[in-house]
Amino acid sequence: PYSFECTDRMARMPQSGIREIFDAAQDYDDLADLSIGEPDFATPEPIAAAVADAVGAGASGYTQTAGRSDLRAAIAEKLADANGIHADPETEVIVTPGAMGALFAATQVVADAGDEVLLPEPYWSNYHGHVANTGADLVTVPTAAADDFVPDPEAIARRITDDTAGVILNTPNNPTGAVVPPSTLRAIGEVLEAHDLWAILDETYEDLVYNGAVHHSLASDDAFFERSITVHTFSKSYAMTGWRIGYATGPADVIEQMRVLQEHTVSCAAEPAQVAAVAALDHPEVASAIHEAFARRRELILDRLADIPDVDPGAPQGAFYVFADVSALTDDTTEFTKHLLSDGVAAVPGSVFGAAGEGFVRFSYANDETVIRTAMDRFERAVETR
Ligand code: PLP
Repeated sequence: PYSFECTDRMARMPQSGIREIFDAAQDYDDLADLSIGEPDFATPEPIAAAVADAVGAGASGYTQTAGRSDLRAAIAEKLADANGIHADPETEVIVTPGAMGALFAATQVVADAGDEVLLPEPYWSNYHGHVANTGADLVTVPTAAADDFVPDPEAIARRITDDTAGVILNTPNNPTGAVVPPSTLRAIGEVLEAHDLWAILDETYEDLVYNGAVHHSLASDDAFFERSITVHTFSKSYAMTGWRIGYATGPADVIEQMRVLQEHTVSCAAEPAQVAAVAALDHPEVASAIHEAFARRRELILDRLADIPDVDPGAPQGAFYVFADVSALTDDTTEFTKHLLSDGVAAVPGSVFGAAGEGFVRFSYANDETVIRTAMDRFERAVETR
């Protein structure tokens, strides 16, 4: 019989550790599930209505590979107003299937086999797969709870070698909730410029910052724009994960390469989703309402965690995650989270996000307040009776 052998490149793709918890969770039917990083809102009404009208009028075909011109024009306007990034909509913007599509194309065009790609740790696990898929090696730069998980520019500089091609930066951060302050981002930018390296800047959670924290786009510096690809998405800000619609901006030659890759892979983002994105940019009040809901949920979960002995929730400023230090309770967070399932709570062990995450558990507050309350009641009881 024929036996299928996986390519070496695919064999390097890591399995998701989140999957392990997800599979274990299938054995329980009454879980307060704070494991998933997905807004629980339906697609906002004005967006759904605009799509129904446009699809009725025929907007369901192939579009230009880089996306519809009206969407790219609206994106360029938003980048200028909200991010201070000045991009030509015709040549410096590409619409992609979610941030995922942008990250896939971005890593493919800037990293090669034999290169090294720097990544602050803990990190969102999918970067590992994107980098593995290019043949490059991932070099992690640990960050610490004592620094609110903000990367240290000097620690990044120390890991640069002749093989380093660039760095992936994610702020606001999944899983830590860290928001890298503008001054630190600029210092990292200077290190990259001094060593002639590029950056992929994942700003998926750009709208979700709280308590006076400021999200800064490094590519708003025109000189830095030339060596960066900035990735955005409608998934989190507009509760549109399933529409698979995002975009990237960067210098024209790099965006053109991403466009060529997209031409040979997914063709273009789905047209109804592109129409949805135009409607979303027309309705910023929708994103504001979602942001306000997350801000309330953040207060709730931080208040509750602060009252639980031997748990330190830290001070997450962004995204919709709390990366809580539970090292006083366990030295194996994978086992700890498996036990929590039997207490009726699903969360993700920090080790899934790299070795620097050991000792931590990620709770997502992209959930209804009643689910958060139930999870915290059960977690508190579990900790007290352990
Ligand atoms: N980047 C980060 C840091 C994420 O957490 C996620 C989703 O969880 C993505 C990118 C993917 O976003 P999208 O759904 O737009 O592909």
